[in-house]
Amino acid sequence: MVLTTTLDSLRRHFTLLIRQYFSGLVLQISNPFFGTSKIILSDRPQRRLELLMKPASQPHEGKSFRNSGRKAFWNLRFGVLTTSLLFAYLCGFSQDHLLLDAPVPEVLTEINISDGPSDRTVQAIVGMRLIDGTEGDMIENAVVVIDGNRIASVGKQGEVEIPDDAEVHDASGLTMVPGLIDAHYHSVNNNPALETILKNGTTTIRDPGHPFRFYQALFFSQKPMPRVFVTGAHLDGFPGVYKQQAVLIRNAAHAQETVYEHVRNGGSGIKIYFRLPLKYFKPVTDAAKLAGVPVFAHLELVPADSAIMAGLDGIEHITSLGVALASPEEGARFQDAVFNNSNARREWRYRLWSGIDLNSERTQKLIELMVSNRTYLVPTLAAFEKQAGSEGVEEYEVTAFQNMMEFVRKAHQAGVEIVGSSHTWGEYADPGFTLQREMELLAEAGMTPLEVIRATTIKNAHYFRSASRIGSIEVGKLADFVLLNANPAENISNMKQVSRVMINGQWVE
Ligand SMILES: [Zn+2]
Repeated sequence: MVLTTTLDSLRRHFTLLIRQYFSGLVLQISNPFFGTSKIILSDRPQRRLELLMKPASQPHEGKSFRNSGRKAFWNLRFGVLTTSLLFAYLCGFSQDHLLLDAPVPEVLTEINISDGPSDRTVQAIVGMRLIDGTEGDMIENAVVVIDGNRIASVGKQGEVEIPDDAEVHDASGLTMVPGLIDAHYHSVNNNPALETILKNGTTTIRDPGHPFRFYQALFFSQKPMPRVFVTGAHLDGFPGVYKQQAVLIRNAAHAQETVYEHVRNGGSGIKIYFRLPLKYFKPVTDAAKLAGVPVFAHLELVPADSAIMAGLDGIEHITSLGVALASPEEGARFQDAVFNNSNARREWRYRLWSGIDLNSERTQKLIELMVSNRTYLVPTLAAFEKQAGSEGVEEYEVTAFQNMMEFVRKAHQAGVEIVGSSHTWGEYADPGFTLQREMELLAEAGMTPLEVIRATTIKNAHYFRSASRIGSIEVGKLADFVLLNANPAENISNMKQVSRVMINGQWVE
């Protein structure tokens, strides 16, 4: 007890010390305790981000003091700081208190957040079956109370108090699921398409890898649309694939600067494209880590295992794994073809996948690596679907797609974090329902309907680092949900039976 009190007061003392003397200090240090780390001391996340976003004078140079000319003074400060950090650690400070390489909390936000109710209304949705997106059981005959744009209470009817002034909506016979989150949707300023997917249940998307001007129309939309997480232009290597949409990275410092600039402009994730050389992956992921945003990649040439070890948060598209899974000879043949002609990937990825041995040690190793690094896999199966008997579909393409499905099955069984995404358009999807087609394919690949729903809601929210606000129907979160006419736990195809959608506390009309 006494010890606890002492530690508490020490902790207070150090917090005060740090705030008074070192607030706003940015140091990049190398030492055996922290490795090479950037330390930013500030109790205000926004200030911390501003400091991070300042152009670095000597990125990746190990020991460099960024805001100092007076060396002796800084050396003294540095000495005191290191001692303080050491004491602080001994006193049980976590990295979060010190803001040492800790992720910036909750600065990732979407654009075009819908207004929400104009006055503070209270609504109660009653009588439905509730699939809340958590690991918990379904609730029959549920009540969800919404205060303004937030969820105020959740539970069984009779156990949850419904405020007298609440607007009550009878939802008996319906099933409520969290608003769907699509990790990879290219809106390309197509507002009508966004309105359609919102009406079909997608309340959040990430629109990856386009210059900010590609999001322009979204800012001026008068129509409701999902929450849109943007990234800014993708980072590619010379000569680029889609040059007009890419930043072609010249060196490690340029990679870092590009990340900071994207985040400064509102990017909440960084997309790497497939001609970026592996040597620039680490500078990108290091910078993104400091800025608090995830990095994900569409790969063709760089093997997925090397990319993951360079610090990627997510792999977009199942095809990105091809080179790492195929035999080295087949992989090299594919790399040659695509290196010489980017468009060769469209045919060759199917040729490559048709010959992949999913019982190989390489497959096993890659899956283990993804599990241990908690790499998100965004398979976008619907975008690659090829079914036998369809016009123009070749046998090797069918085999390749079956192998992609089989890989997802194995990865899921082993515990890889698989998340849902439409990649905008799929040949076998009903118009406007590509994400729901993806959900069907994930179920076919062995995930239970509830797992599929979590993969397309709360898991994506974690991937977007926004799970404290969206992704499930829990108290305090934003009121984004879908009411369905049929139970998706019985058949995931029922995700298409949409009755009503709410985003940010407002019904989508
Ligand atoms: Zn894409």
